[in-house]
Amino acid sequence: MEQQTHLVNQQLKRIEPVAKKCSFCLNGTSQSMNDNYFVPVFKENDRTNIVVYRSVKYQKIDIGIPRCIECKSLHQKAKTKALVISLIAALAIVAFMVYNFLDFHAVVSVGLLFLAGFAGFGGYAYLQNVFAGKAGIYSLKAGAEGDALVMDFLNQGWSLKQPTA
Ligand SMILES: [Zn+2]
Repeated sequence: MEQQTHLVNQQLKRIEPVAKKCSFCLNGTSQSMNDNYFVPVFKENDRTNIVVYRSVKYQKIDIGIPRCIECKSLHQKAKTKALVISLIAALAIVAFMVYNFLDFHAVVSVGLLFLAGFAGFGGYAYLQNVFAGKAGIYSLKAGAEGDALVMDFLNQGWSLKQPTA
């Protein structure tokens, strides 16, 4: 008999980890199912053949990664800080563009808008990694990519990105 590492929670459409050891700091222990990080994965095609999870009928399911309460709070702080900084950077670029609108060629303005988008979204993802790294733990993304079950799903044609219809 294969040992169950996870249990499918049909009601919440998520897969809950049995393990309690925190995957992000490798020290702490998950105290509550709600402190765990649930990463959504999206079905891209129908290759799912992971033995235990043949019963998974969804287009999207959340996979739980054990996380301790300290890492939960550090992730939250990293998210907030990253959001504020990337938002300010994006707004500063847009303000610069608007302020100089009449002096710039249209191509420059469009380029600056793309740069603002890049600073906003790219900066948000990047800074979360930086702040998690500074706190000495794995970021949400790194933790998800290091999870064996998440990897199984990705190898079976699932994706961490929401498919664009
Ligand atoms: Zn932890």
